[in-house]
Amino acid sequence: MKTIGLIGGMSWESSAVYYRLLNERVGNILGGSHSCECIMDSVDFDHIERLQHDNKWEELCHIMKDKALKLEKAGAEIILLCTNTMHVCEPEMTRDLRVPFLHIAEATGEAIVSKGLSRVGLLGTRFTMEKDFYSKILKEKFGVEVIIPKAEDRDLVHNCIYKELVRGQFLPSSKLEFQRVIRDLQAEGAQGVILGCTEIPMLIQQQDVEIPVFDTTSLHVDAALKNALI
Ligand code: GLU
Repeated sequence: MKTIGLIGGMSWESSAVYYRLLNERVGNILGGSHSCECIMDSVDFDHIERLQHDNKWEELCHIMKDKALKLEKAGAEIILLCTNTMHVCEPEMTRDLRVPFLHIAEATGEAIVSKGLSRVGLLGTRFTMEKDFYSKILKEKFGVEVIIPKAEDRDLVHNCIYKELVRGQFLPSSKLEFQRVIRDLQAEGAQGVILGCTEIPMLIQQQDVEIPVFDTTSLHVDAALKNALI
């Protein structure tokens, strides 16, 4: 088994899910008392969130790159960045990295294609929905077209992520709003919806909506294990 390096803390709520899923799935695959060999380097999210909202992306990418190199030095053989948003820094992060970096949008794109879908909705932070780093990979590598919610719904989803989800609050009222936003995306032709923020799967699951959901946390974990267990 390869050692998986996790850049976590964005937020710790979802990093805890990564840690649990990695261990549960290694146990299921290998049986007995097997668990996952991994190393996590976890940030103080308050600092990251401020830099994001101050548009300090260069500084953020510097931090992410340092974390990846630090994990590699510590013995990680695969790197996972446990947030969709910070994948905006992937080009910078992988420049000097020698071990594989498993991109969350690629794990997601593969799952969408294997379901035979070509047009999906994307929910995530405003950065993930509005910058092109995520939708470009889906379009160029997988031929998948991405639809995002209208501006006021992007605000709603973004604010819910930063004010509730990353703080461990999963409110029934927010769940209803997300269900409504997903229905609107469906009405616009989305055949499925990407839960493109690693906390959203704690609020919305498959049984809550009609169209297929793509849980990016779970798909990222599966991609890591596929690579780590060969
Ligand atoms: N975990 C979230 C994501 O997957 C948001 C936190 C962040 O801004 O990194 O995008």
